[in-house]
Amino acid sequence: MADQFYRDTWAEINLDAIAYNIQQIKRKLPRYSDIMAVVKANAYGHGAVDVAKEAISAGAGMLAVALLEEAEELRDAGIEVPILVFGRVSPRDVPIAVERDITLTFFQADWLREVKQLQLSQPVSLHMKWDTGMGRVGLRTEEELLAILGELEDQHAATLTGLYTHFATADEADLSYFHMQYRRFEDLLKLFKRYWDQPVVIHTGNSAASIRFPEEMQHYIRFGISLYGLYPSTVVKNEREIDLQPAFSLHTRLIHVKKIEAGESVSYGATYTAEREEWIGTIPIGYADGWTRKLQGIDVLVDGKRMPTVGRVCMDQTMIRLDKEYPVGTKVTLIGKQVEEEIEADELASWLDTINYEIPCMISARVPRIYT
Ligand code: PLP
Repeated sequence: MADQFYRDTWAEINLDAIAYNIQQIKRKLPRYSDIMAVVKANAYGHGAVDVAKEAISAGAGMLAVALLEEAEELRDAGIEVPILVFGRVSPRDVPIAVERDITLTFFQADWLREVKQLQLSQPVSLHMKWDTGMGRVGLRTEEELLAILGELEDQHAATLTGLYTHFATADEADLSYFHMQYRRFEDLLKLFKRYWDQPVVIHTGNSAASIRFPEEMQHYIRFGISLYGLYPSTVVKNEREIDLQPAFSLHTRLIHVKKIEAGESVSYGATYTAEREEWIGTIPIGYADGWTRKLQGIDVLVDGKRMPTVGRVCMDQTMIRLDKEYPVGTKVTLIGKQVEEEIEADELASWLDTINYEIPCMISARVPRIYT
């Protein structure tokens, strides 16, 4: 995306909100728990480098991403704190991690054996992933753990610096599965400690677990969605354990305003027909910006009031039914606050039958991010 932009649509990222959310969780955590700011997927659509820098200056000691290239982007920007990659990196790319001082996740003895064949300039730093019930990646059994520990004894290619697991249901009302995962983690940890006496950092909690069980957190929490000011679920939101400020808002401006007569239609398929004389505004955002066609009919804010979008969402434009004539250039807020009204990412998520995580992620790179 070019640095310059000429369009009237932008996302505002409030970096003070990022700092505020870190302060809020820090106040709940025990002294020994540090924060790993999860900035994968371009910081959940907020912009990885700017968010990472803000999170570090607000007190996060470590960063996490999903991909090696995401870690490289942070190093290229001059960020020096430890970075963990959650995803599996191919053994062939491990030398890049060594060169850029990036910590990798691993969970397979075969992977480790392949890495040991490489001529690395120094050992790669590794966090071992345990699958205690998420069913995604990670070692699951005591046998697997013992096999991997055997492979790790020779440390010329790899140094074990951490271990972790990930909870599948920490944001839910029923916590029985969460507690089962926790017990499995503790059982594996007991075994691990019997065979391994060198220091490692341990981390288990995502936003939900760290907000709800701060005292149970270990050396780090992996703070993702709530870093951005969103609650991991309605359950967690309603518990009111923490106050968060959303960092993401989305805005545009009216580029055309016209009066249409009763019986006239709007947009592809002529699916919307005016019942009386109406003012229709056009905004320059559409499905190519991630403003998906399924958002047809959702409200936006104009002049501090809710107004419905009408007709089909086009690739680059969408129409709004206005309550009166407004000048071209009037600001329209699609996510965020205007005066007393607010449209939260949660509202879009429930409209789209998804989770709020998806909302900032889906706003495409074509929409410039402005940092305030
Ligand atoms: N840890 C891991 C391994 C993850 O995959 C994620 C996000 O998906 C997180 C932590 C952060 O979770 P959350 O955004 O719910 O805080």
